[in-house]
Amino acid sequence: MSPKASKAIARGKPGLGRSKALIAAAREARANACAPYSKFRVGAALKTSSKKIYGGCNVENATYGLTVCAERVAVWKAVSEGARKFEAIAIVADTDRLTPPCGACRQILWEFCGNIEIILANLRGKTESYRLAELFPKPFDGKFL
Ligand SMILES: [Zn+2]
Repeated sequence: MSPKASKAIARGKPGLGRSKALIAAAREARANACAPYSKFRVGAALKTSSKKIYGGCNVENATYGLTVCAERVAVWKAVSEGARKFEAIAIVADTDRLTPPCGACRQILWEFCGNIEIILANLRGKTESYRLAELFPKPFDGKFL
């Protein structure tokens, strides 16, 4: 994708209509969030190149460190069921400033999904769209091994 096209997607205005179903799936996944400690509920929905959608929610643990983010839950579900090619992931949280994937999730998304579209949304209809390379510009990956 050209830098210009990538920027157009990043600005998020045109093209986001096609993301509505993915955002809706992320909202639905968010309803299952297990966040008794942080109360920070997040949903994700990961779309494959064959248009299948895998949802994920954050799952917390009393030890905190074992907590897993919604994005990684969605990736693990998809990969464990054989999916390998992905187009986009929507991430929904109840925040005014839209919630981007954390560093660990950016690494995992790069490993399994490459430079996919990252759609951020809140519960009031605000959305933004990026390419993963914009959020994770100098990734470490298998090419360094
Ligand atoms: Zn994360």
